[in-house]
Amino acid sequence: MTLLLRTTAGRILEVHRRVLEAMWAYTQVHPKNTEAGGILVGHERQQGNLVLDRFTSPQPGDRRTRTRFHRSVEPHQELLNLMWLASGCTRTYFGEWHTHPEPCPTPSSIDLRSWRKHLKQEEARENGLHFIIVGTAITRVWHANQGGRDVTLIGETHTEFRV
Ligand SMILES: [Zn+2]
Repeated sequence: MTLLLRTTAGRILEVHRRVLEAMWAYTQVHPKNTEAGGILVGHERQQGNLVLDRFTSPQPGDRRTRTRFHRSVEPHQELLNLMWLASGCTRTYFGEWHTHPEPCPTPSSIDLRSWRKHLKQEEARENGLHFIIVGTAITRVWHANQGGRDVTLIGETHTEFRV
């Protein structure tokens, strides 16, 4: 089932179930699990809906600890380029995702700083950016407009992982 959300720009965002399920494989259920993350990739339907149907998983070069995830730029960018080419140049950068070792995730001050940095970049464009944090009980989705400082929670769903 697709998760349907409304962005602060009034667009409908369709988050595909298999993207969520693939991220849930990284849920930090055990004390030894480090944070995971990557980028969100999607496309725009002709009727205007935004479709989040791809993502990148952790790559070599990412810095991962129990409470920090720092994404390496190049391997994720290369994967994005491949997805862009394979889709006939329709899939683009939609935002960022990572996990947190807490049930109901809230962005840290470091997260907010990093998100605002991405929002200043050209890639945020007219649709703004989306941010997902996978907590151990709930997965939450935020949206913000390009150049914006206000990041708005636009939806959440239960984190469903299989042990
Ligand atoms: Zn975080």
